[in-house]
Amino acid sequence: MAYITLDKQHFFNNLDIIAKQTKSRDKIALVLKDNAYGHGLCEMASLAKEYGLTKAVVQLESEAVQIKDFFEYILILADTPKSPSEKFYYTVNELQMIEKFPQSTQIELKVNTGMNRNGIEMDELEDALVMIKKCNLQLRAIFTHHGCADEENGFYEMQKKNFEHLKLKAEVLLRELEMPQVVFHSSNSAALFREQDCDGDMARVGIAAYGLLELPFVTEAKKLQAVLALYASKLSTRKVKRGSCIGYGASVTMQEDALVSNYDFGYGAGFLRGCSNSYITPEGVNLVGRISMDNASFVSDLDELLIFNDASQLAKYVETISYEVLTSLKPHLKRKII
Ligand SMILES: *Cc1c(COP(=O)(O)O)cnc(C)c1O
Repeated sequence: MAYITLDKQHFFNNLDIIAKQTKSRDKIALVLKDNAYGHGLCEMASLAKEYGLTKAVVQLESEAVQIKDFFEYILILADTPKSPSEKFYYTVNELQMIEKFPQSTQIELKVNTGMNRNGIEMDELEDALVMIKKCNLQLRAIFTHHGCADEENGFYEMQKKNFEHLKLKAEVLLRELEMPQVVFHSSNSAALFREQDCDGDMARVGIAAYGLLELPFVTEAKKLQAVLALYASKLSTRKVKRGSCIGYGASVTMQEDALVSNYDFGYGAGFLRGCSNSYITPEGVNLVGRISMDNASFVSDLDELLIFNDASQLAKYVETISYEVLTSLKPHLKRKII
């Protein structure tokens, strides 16, 4: 059976590097949405707890419920309370959402500082705070998200400036409205690593923890190590003669005789089909033919074949990002912590 290995040493090493950036473990909120970027939600949650993290970020309440015992604080990015807990905090993604939360729900207010995806507009801040007070919601934080933290095009600085401005305004408004002060956070992995000092009260760290942050202009990020590797098991081996074709569509013709094996990892489990015909594993093994639903053929007769141990390398074959490679990996794949 194809399986995933999770390298605990690499993960802990990454968290050490991240903690150096945040200056404290307590400021790290590990982003565990989408099955912990394909790594396995509960596996990564338990490792995070073992390391000493207390904060997590997920997309849905159902994810938060699964990892409730591992953390003290869980930020839910896009859901409403169905089985709330004192550990859960729900994101306000637009003004109209505020009135829909039940009284005393713990919330965090997301503000659009230029990415134009989620969050209230900056000029809606006062209205939002008034509504939050009126609806008797418990506001813990105000936060924003960067759209260009991994690029050098000026957008990052523009959003950062907007958020700084917003913070000052929020502190004044909260005082005027006699509401408790809140915490502020804005950094994702790329923002955290491009700054010398993490100015926020918390950083929401995903891809860096998994060891796949690609920031060409930041050296600390280069020390991060990929946590996840994927292995497939051999289903059958055959001698294929020069001139023969392999797989659906007979898309490849062998240029020489070769020993070809079929392995149990296909697009049904998350092997991006765009890798067909061209992919070469980190150990230099050639994939031949099209990737099928549960199979892919390689010029190899190894019983267990390393398919990839650095999602960013595989991502290059299909011009995508490691996030997509990782989140394509299906939950049914076995995960082993090594
Ligand atoms: C996914 C996500 C993150 C994590 O981003 P990385 O680039 O993986 O660090 C942080 N904040 C929000 C709001 C997100 O949706």
